[in-house]
Amino acid sequence: MKTWMKFTFVLCLLGAQVAHGQTDKKQASNKAKPKVRILATGGTIAGAQMSKDEYGYKSGTFSVDNLIAAVPTMKDIADLTGEQVANIGSQDMNDEVWLKLSKRINEVLKSKDVDAVVITHGTDTMEETAYFLNLVVKSDKPVVLVGSMRPATAVSADGPANLYNAVAVASDPRAKGRGVLVVMNDEIHNARNVEKVNTINVEAFASPERGPEGLVNTGKIAWSEPSTKKHTSKSEFNIEKTDKLPRVDIFYAYANMAPDIIEAAVKAGAKGVVIAGVGDGNMTEATLKTLERLHKEGLLVVRSSRVPIGPVLRNSEVDDDKMGFVASGEFNPAKSRVLAMLALTKTNDPKKVQEMFNTY
Ligand code: ASP
Repeated sequence: MKTWMKFTFVLCLLGAQVAHGQTDKKQASNKAKPKVRILATGGTIAGAQMSKDEYGYKSGTFSVDNLIAAVPTMKDIADLTGEQVANIGSQDMNDEVWLKLSKRINEVLKSKDVDAVVITHGTDTMEETAYFLNLVVKSDKPVVLVGSMRPATAVSADGPANLYNAVAVASDPRAKGRGVLVVMNDEIHNARNVEKVNTINVEAFASPERGPEGLVNTGKIAWSEPSTKKHTSKSEFNIEKTDKLPRVDIFYAYANMAPDIIEAAVKAGAKGVVIAGVGDGNMTEATLKTLERLHKEGLLVVRSSRVPIGPVLRNSEVDDDKMGFVASGEFNPAKSRVLAMLALTKTNDPKKVQEMFNTY
């Protein structure tokens, strides 16, 4: 790592320390501190600019030890240990890392030496990883994902404050049993509801259908109602013996959409498809006809929407009962894909899968 990079990194982080110093002194008590394990996977939060004059940067440059050392005041609220699970930009997130990460989380959360887990992660696919974990982690202990929109070397990097807040949330006993959470930009979101909604702004995450599950500022937390949907220890999905997930592809609908590309995906091994439909999960007549036939041959078909807000309703303009399709409800295409992949580890019966979409 270049000297200027280290220097800028330390300077950015010093700012975060000063901001949090007051709160930390008050919070430090004689009580045993919660034991929080930080599992790092890369992303912009661990990213560095390649040159201080350039706009671009490389995700996953700093290690988990760098991240912990960068915010020393976190040690006042939790006993921290770190592990590097991966060090990638989350655009490269894949099934292998998901399975490795979830198995590792399940393993460490079984231990009395770990009260909660914080996962540092890129923001691009954070909502997918968070929702995957929400469905396969077998524990009520807090699991919190955190990232940043600006690399660690940037002026006014948001990573240190986000990480501090994530550790504070993971350390709070009221975080238990809420399912997997995402902490970004002073907000706490439920993995089921959260979506990335801005490509570059630090206010990049929202839960458009249900709102955030809490606010967190310099480690102080105001909780809202927990989600009533099933998750983690109550979930029926188990990946402990799984080393490969079924392939599910997403197709973006548009005017004059042709279905041949979907046929190609099925030939390549897709067991399910999610259509990012127009409007309420609609698509061209030709695509509908092809999907109806492919479903009869065993393909799981989920109708979601390319529209950011609003549910996809069952049997609205498309007769899902007749076609054998699943309507995604509140789930966007990326989240629908995660749930469809896990559903396919159990069944491809659309009625049963629809029930899962209603339940989780
Ligand atoms: N491309 C980066 C990633 O997802 C963006 C970020 O972390 O904000 O890893």
